Parts: sequence; C-alpha cells; structure tokens
Amino acid sequence: MTSRQIESALSRAQLICKIRGARLTPLRRRVLELILSSDQPTGAYSLLAELRRGRGKLGPPTVYRALEFLLANKLIHKVETSSAFIACGDIEHPHETQFMICDDCGATEEIRDDEIVQILRRLGEGRGFAVERQVIEARGLCPACRSAQR
Ligand SMILES: [Zn+2]
Ligand SMILES: [Zn+2]
Repeated sequence: MTSRQIESALSRAQLICKIRGARLTPLRRRVLELILSSDQPTGAYSLLAELRRGRGKLGPPTVYRALEFLLANKLIHKVETSSAFIACGDIEHPHETQFMICDDCGATEEIRDDEIVQILRRLGEGRGFAVERQVIEARGLCPACRSAQR
C-alpha cells in the first residue's frame, strides 16, 4: 500500500469507530497503521518490536489489547494458521472471510466469498449446529511464486 492509501484507510477506520462510538486511540491507530504498512500479515511480537522503537517501554498486553480492539471492530483479521494479523480490505461491510496463503513467500489474500459462508452455515443447520465463526485458510503457491518456479 502507498502512504496515501494507508492514510485513507486510517481515516476511514477513524470514521467507522466514531460512528460506532469506539475510540481509536493513538496507540490503536498506530498498530493499525503498522499492519496496513506491512505487505504481509504481521505477528504480535514484530508489532511490539516496532512500537517499542517509537514509544519505549510497552508490554505485550498493551499490544494484545490494541489487537483485540481492532479485531472486535473488524478493522483487521487474524490469520489463524500463521498467528498473524492483516488489515481488512472492506471495513465498511462486516463479513466472514477466507484466506489464500502462499507457503513460499507468505503472501496472503483475503477472499470474501459469501457462498462459502452460506454453505457452511447450511451444513451446520442440517446438523443442528449454529456456526458462529469460520476459519478457512487455503495454503499453496501464489501466482508470483508459481511463475518463478517454472
Ligand atoms: Zn475483511
Ligand atoms: Zn508466493
């Protein structure tokens, strides 16, 4: 993302929080900015290392609380299989999401396929199961790594 795209994503996040009555504090905003600036999902500890550079002493709980806030407000997603965080590509429309993750370079693409979501919900319903959260992460090779291998 260019710095201009990051700025615009940050102001949209700010606006959405304001509408919801949630407080995007400077620290939460900074964490979101770091996640937006990274071209790959970022782990909590590299966020912490980055934050310490600018703000001195900060403990992991501070970062985890900021991440919880960003997750609760659906500004970021957690990529479970890599325990890392990625900025959501469509914060205006809360959604379930799927990821395609490259095993070689780590590139992670957010897929928002409503059909998959509905299929899993229906499969749950058929079993009397209420699906509340879906974790769907496909791993493989991204187009760039595939063509590099050829
Ligand atoms: Zn998303
Ligand atoms: Zn790749």
